[in-house]
Amino acid sequence: AVSFFWFRRDLRLEDNVGLFYALQSEFPVIPLFIFDEAILNSLPKDDARVGFIHETLSKINEALHLTGSSLLIKKGKTQEVWQSLLEEFDVKEVFFNKDYEPYAIQRDGLIYELLEKNNSISFAFKDQVVFEEREITKADGLPYTVFTPYKNKWLEQFRKNPIREYDTSGLFSNFYKSNFSFPSLEQIGFVESSIKVKPYTLEGLANYQETRDFPAEDATSYLSPHLRFGTVSVRKMVVFADKTNAVFLSELIWREFFMQILYHFPKVVTQNFRSAYDGIQWRNNEEDFKRWCEGKTGYPMVDAGMRQLNQTGYMHNRVRMVVASFLCKHLLIQWQWGEAYFAEKLLDYELSANVGNWQWAAGTGCDAAPYFRVFNPDIQLKKFDEKGIYIRKWIPEFDLGYGQPMVNHAMARDRAIATYKAGIFK
Ligand code: FAD
Repeated sequence: AVSFFWFRRDLRLEDNVGLFYALQSEFPVIPLFIFDEAILNSLPKDDARVGFIHETLSKINEALHLTGSSLLIKKGKTQEVWQSLLEEFDVKEVFFNKDYEPYAIQRDGLIYELLEKNNSISFAFKDQVVFEEREITKADGLPYTVFTPYKNKWLEQFRKNPIREYDTSGLFSNFYKSNFSFPSLEQIGFVESSIKVKPYTLEGLANYQETRDFPAEDATSYLSPHLRFGTVSVRKMVVFADKTNAVFLSELIWREFFMQILYHFPKVVTQNFRSAYDGIQWRNNEEDFKRWCEGKTGYPMVDAGMRQLNQTGYMHNRVRMVVASFLCKHLLIQWQWGEAYFAEKLLDYELSANVGNWQWAAGTGCDAAPYFRVFNPDIQLKKFDEKGIYIRKWIPEFDLGYGQPMVNHAMARDRAIATYKAGIFK
């Protein structure tokens, strides 16, 4: 008889809630990861995120070898994989950490039923966030849709419920002894990408509130892909942020804010949070979209951002705001197009944050930028990259004379406001 710990987006051995409880099971624990074909089949073969997952799993596997254990890696449709595991092993208990995305909730529901039929007990834990689901709500029990009161309540609860550590280090002897073979990336059907996830850094965040908006400063943490795949514990990061910088902590609360918005309002994945905005007549010009994707709009701040994204899988937050606003407002292309492009390219792509921030930029989201605020990309450049250090890094030809903007700012601004107005107040 065995228990399973199913790794998903919590790829670490330390301070992992589900794993902590799994290792206290009365049965030896098989650590499992499933490469889910439902997700993998839509990705290009050199997807850098799959490479990162594979590399991380390989490190976990090495650490497990020291304890005489190993990771069991499977590839396939999740339900079929579980079906065959139940035939192969006498599975008593299955432990995993919760995932709040609509696809994951549906998938986990099906697996739960399958396990129940087999008389295996499943246990799901909160690990990905400090506060989940209905833990932070208004007095009437409804979810918050405005950030500041959500944040205040979050902080109030945080002060009342000190964070604890889930120290797994003394429990490793309860891993199932095994030497499962570890597949290469090629055996999973992928090849290595030239794009890599950067390690995160917690240095230099003391002045975060002053430096974080300047893309040339390199003054943010690069935590996002690590939080996405769980290679760090969010609880540890929150404790660190609380001691270091209130604005940095606030950003981690934004992450949880958008996660609970997605949980309570799953329609936001494809639809406007504010349905009053459904009537906007987007231009959705494909040629314009292509120029935006390639970083050839003629606006240096926009183009530098898109090139950084295309070349590295990352873009600085200030620049993400500028390029997103430009797409929705200057080009009048619906946010879903930009969201999908980011989803394909970003190493830190996270459904809740991506949709939440895109809808924020488009003005269609909860607590979003007002429809009449149209960022001027040249003023943003003057304010946040005055010396042009960031743009020169991504646009080497800049000094040779940069091309004409694809749309005139004043015209585009008036057109955006008029189009939004006509759509909202019909
Ligand atoms: P830091 O400034 O060091 O922030 C620390 C952490 O706080 C981040 O890692 C992230 O987990 C969280 N955080 C910071 N800003 C936000 C925010 N606005 N919303 C939610 N969480 C935040 N972030 C993603 O993780 N995945 C996405 O797919 C994503 N898409 C975005 C799309 C658009 C249009 C915009 C404007 C922002 C998007 N963001 C997304 C938010 C933000 O840009 C990134 O989290 C940040 O740039 C990551 O770099 P960092 O870790 O160095 O950030």
